[in-house]
Amino acid sequence: MRVFVLGTGSSGNALLVESEDTRVLVDAGLGPRALESRLALLGVTLERGSGRPFIDALLPTHHHGDHLSGAEKIARSTGCVVYLHDGVRAPRLRARFDVRPYPLGSAFKIGSLAVRAEHVPHDAPQVALRLASQHHAFGVATDVGRVTAGLKALLSSCDSALVEANHCAELLAFGPYPMALRHRVTGGLGHLSNQQTAELASALVGSRLTRLYLGHLSRSNNTPERALETVASAAPRLGVTVLAHGSMRALEVGRASSLQLALPFG
Ligand SMILES: [Zn+2]
Ligand SMILES: [Zn+2]
Repeated sequence: MRVFVLGTGSSGNALLVESEDTRVLVDAGLGPRALESRLALLGVTLERGSGRPFIDALLPTHHHGDHLSGAEKIARSTGCVVYLHDGVRAPRLRARFDVRPYPLGSAFKIGSLAVRAEHVPHDAPQVALRLASQHHAFGVATDVGRVTAGLKALLSSCDSALVEANHCAELLAFGPYPMALRHRVTGGLGHLSNQQTAELASALVGSRLTRLYLGHLSRSNNTPERALETVASAAPRLGVTVLAHGSMRALEVGRASSLQLALPFG
């Protein structure tokens, strides 16, 4: 299983998960050109045989623009299937493309990947995801208003995960956001603070999860250093890596062995 973060944060989210012959794009906050050029920078081409960009499925977590704005163009250019849970408000996508519903809380297959989605609180109907190949499982949980038991259970059954550490409460309190927007962020239907993510990480120590990537950082109300320090100090036994706003990266999914670490492309 390979996972590539192509964008994370309010300027556009996209994550490509690949296993054997299956490619799923989680979130489409980027258009097809940005998607292809960012993948190329990571050494991956979307073309397969026919010369046409190839992904099997698009799986947007919710209908906020930073997760959905590129969906139509990507669906058109790749001809992929779009998986939408019932809460995603996307009438044009539903009218024009091959859209399939899926249930929350139970696994379904996209090619060789087993996918499970759990509802999490946010100000649009939102899900956290677990995508599993035969040997590995990867979790995605951004845009989470507060941590739920279902989210903890989902992430504790993954090897690694991308979880948001959206804001530092202190920077938010004294930052540029107007009061109403601050309340939106912190009110239980917004985003996780570094401290909330740290508590979640601490609760996951001892579970299957050994590697945590922090994403969806606010540009105005957080810094990568604050996010990393707060979460890593609460969960010293997890490998914690921070992804700055807008960054791209190929992620490690399985447990890293000493042999893999010794190889340049392991
Ligand atoms: Zn978002
Ligand atoms: Zn959102």
